[in-house]
Amino acid sequence: SRAKKYGKENRVSTTFGDVAGHEEAKKELIEVVDFLKNPQKYVGIGAEIPKGVLLVGPPGTGKTLLARAVAGEADVPFYTVSASEFMEMFVGVGASRVRTLFDDARKSSPSIIFIDEIDSIGRKRGAGIGGGHDEREQTLNQILSEMDGFDKGTSVIVMAATNRPDILDPALLRPGRFDRQVTIDLPNMKEREAILKVHMRNKPLSGSVDVVELSKSTPYFSGADLKNLVNEAALEAARVNKSQIDMNDFYRALDKITLGLENGSLTIT
Ligand code: ATP
Repeated sequence: SRAKKYGKENRVSTTFGDVAGHEEAKKELIEVVDFLKNPQKYVGIGAEIPKGVLLVGPPGTGKTLLARAVAGEADVPFYTVSASEFMEMFVGVGASRVRTLFDDARKSSPSIIFIDEIDSIGRKRGAGIGGGHDEREQTLNQILSEMDGFDKGTSVIVMAATNRPDILDPALLRPGRFDRQVTIDLPNMKEREAILKVHMRNKPLSGSVDVVELSKSTPYFSGADLKNLVNEAALEAARVNKSQIDMNDFYRALDKITLGLENGSLTIT
């Protein structure tokens, strides 16, 4: 999501159960959970644990949610940073922030570092208007050298999210760096139904609510859009002091959101 976020979460309660759909991605990420839980199993047989996993997909499809679920399933600390934040820093600060981030994660290894919007600093070097952006390049170089510098026994896994894999610097994708890619697509109808159900949990719904109908009416909605739809429907119901959310609230919420889309105030890519 676009929210500014950076920090360490020691105990993550998110699990794969909170992520609807994305079955293929979960299958691949279960392996990452195992690397974190049983590093000895891999190191013992001489295998190097992968260091970087790139989550590729449109905004709001649950990349952050999935990364957090990997930490929750493995029960390891989760360090998050949004790469776009580095762009706002003074020269030299980005690189030193990266150093501290990796130092901290190594100290509490096994752990996960999650870098959101990696494309904001990970664009091909020297490709920007007017040549390179020093701060950006220094920060990117620092990330690369931190990943190269991991000891064989260190189980810090760096997960990063992007919706623009095509513009990434190839240096990021080299073996030993983000050499694994997991694709996170927009949900299909069945998946939209599952996502709606996740966000309807613990909400008082009237019998009129037809989840199948709603999933049919929401093509191109991301997980984040669907979460927003359920919340808007709840707001509609609360506004007129209802104790349950009914189908009309959902239709009203849907109208409101679709209007927003036409006016360009919501982004779906
Ligand atoms: P961005 O690229 O904008 O950072 P993202 O892909 O990281 O987006 P998230 O921030 O993980 O998306 O998703 C936003 C919210 O949408 C999640 O916290 C979650 O509540 C909801 N959501 C998204 N996808 C799913 C899903 N597959 N199942 C359940 N909830 C979802």
